[in-house]
Amino acid sequence: MRGISLVRAGCIVGRIFAPSCRPMRLGRRVSTRRSTYCLSSGTSLRMTDIHYNFARLAVDKAKLCPVDPSSKNPLPRVAVVIADGDRLVGWYAKGHGGEVAQGPNVITIPLVKNAHAEQALLEALAQQDLSTTTAYVTLEPCTKRKGKTACCADLLVAAGIKEIHVGNIDPNPDVGALAWKTFFAEGIKVRDFPPDLRNEAARDNQAFLGKFRATPSIEDGASFDYTTNGGARVLGSAGREFKTWWTECNDRSIYAVDHQHNVSIAKNCTTFNQVDDPGRWFEDQHYSKKVNEGEIVIFRNEYGYALVKVSHVRKATQATNAELNFRFQIRYF
Ligand SMILES: [Zn+2]
Repeated sequence: MRGISLVRAGCIVGRIFAPSCRPMRLGRRVSTRRSTYCLSSGTSLRMTDIHYNFARLAVDKAKLCPVDPSSKNPLPRVAVVIADGDRLVGWYAKGHGGEVAQGPNVITIPLVKNAHAEQALLEALAQQDLSTTTAYVTLEPCTKRKGKTACCADLLVAAGIKEIHVGNIDPNPDVGALAWKTFFAEGIKVRDFPPDLRNEAARDNQAFLGKFRATPSIEDGASFDYTTNGGARVLGSAGREFKTWWTECNDRSIYAVDHQHNVSIAKNCTTFNQVDDPGRWFEDQHYSKKVNEGEIVIFRNEYGYALVKVSHVRKATQATNAELNFRFQIRYF
């Protein structure tokens, strides 16, 4: 178990130990007689401990990702570690930078602006054979990206990574466990981080993960997979929030549900301006209403009304997750 204490005391706080157990600073070029990027330093470690330690390292490196508390659209905090057995090959934290081992040296990877963590690390390791390596990623790799950049799931496959350990599922409906499918199809072994590390990574990435569950604004748009989280979606300011529920109907319509307060449809209204008094539509209320794309459904609670215009509904298919896309406007009393 000596290796565990080495990595806990060493890599995680940004230092590594030479075989002599002398701590050496990362973050600049370091010359050593032998490779220091090794967990076990000559002692044999069980593979489960090695996996735990590298997942632990990824979770700790993700803490280096910047946080913008004022952002209305928080970015994910993601770090990836690639290792070959008990030898660390490199790591990268999104929005921060990383390091790779090159022979006996440690080379800094400077911040690559707008790059995803996996993308930046794989670019830095482009010349290396990664066919025997394992990647440890704190958040599920993306499976869809705007523009010409390949998604990280495909980049990991193309790099020939042998095994992938994942922290949290990305709740973005464009991802949402689809990376598992990609990796399984390629015969790549996929493993989960242990629960304690998954929970810690989720806490550190709370702002990003939370935006798929709640939108704390008065007027906004949102998109989520209504087959996850019990179909729940929270709208509006904390303390006066609307808890909305959604269940599957057809491809272009969905059921809005509120057992406590009931819901209603603003018939023939297609813009929020056309809904003068939301209360008048509650003459025809029910705990569940079918809402077609383009229609406005109204939720009510003790603080006011939430008007939700359903823009797009997609049922889950073989290749995609279910998705509900809408705009909303909250009118507090
Ligand atoms: Zn990505």
